[in-house]
Amino acid sequence: MRITLFDEPVLRRKGKRVTEFDSALRGLVREMTDTMHEADGIGIAAQQVGEAVLVCIVDVRAFQGDFAFTLDGKEPPLDLIMPMALVNPEVEKLPGPNSVMEEGCLSFPGIRGDVKRPEAVLVRYQDHDGNPHTLECDGIFARCVQHEVDHLQGILFIDRMERKTARKLEPELKKLRGETRGQTAG
Ligand SMILES: [Zn+2]
Repeated sequence: MRITLFDEPVLRRKGKRVTEFDSALRGLVREMTDTMHEADGIGIAAQQVGEAVLVCIVDVRAFQGDFAFTLDGKEPPLDLIMPMALVNPEVEKLPGPNSVMEEGCLSFPGIRGDVKRPEAVLVRYQDHDGNPHTLECDGIFARCVQHEVDHLQGILFIDRMERKTARKLEPELKKLRGETRGQTAG
C-alpha cells in the first residue's frame, strides 16, 4: 500500500469506529502491518494508507527493555503480541510527568522534531476479533501509541510541537507539501 504524505486531506480526517470484525478488517490489518515493516516504521495508522477508520498498528520490539507495560494485567512476551493491531483505541494519561522525545513519521519522510507527551498511558482497545483489552505502557511504547492514536483523530505530530520547533521545520514542510501536491494532482 502507498503511504500517504503530508498534506493529503485523508491525514486530517477523523477515523470511523470499526463495528465489523470481518475478513476485510483482517486484510487491512495485514496490509498495514506489511506496509509499516517495509518502511521500517514502528507504527502506522489507517489514515496513512488512505483509510479513515480507527485502526493502528505498533511494533516496538526493536526497543525491548526501554519501556514497561502490562496487557490485561499481565506481561506477555513481546513476540506474542507484536505487531499489535489496536482497533477503536482510547488513550488516557496516567499520573506522572510528561517527557520530550524526538519523533519522526512515515508521512513526513526525513522530518523529525521534539514532541512533549505524557510518559505513561492507559489504552483501551479491541483486537481484530473485537475482544477488548487494557494496555498500560510507558516510554517509547506509550509514545508510539499516542502518536498513532493522534493520527486516528486527524492530529499530526507537527500539531503537538512547540511553536519554535514547528517554525524551524517550516521550510521542509513547505517543500514536502509542494512535492505531495505535485504528485497527487496528476
Ligand atoms: Zn505518524
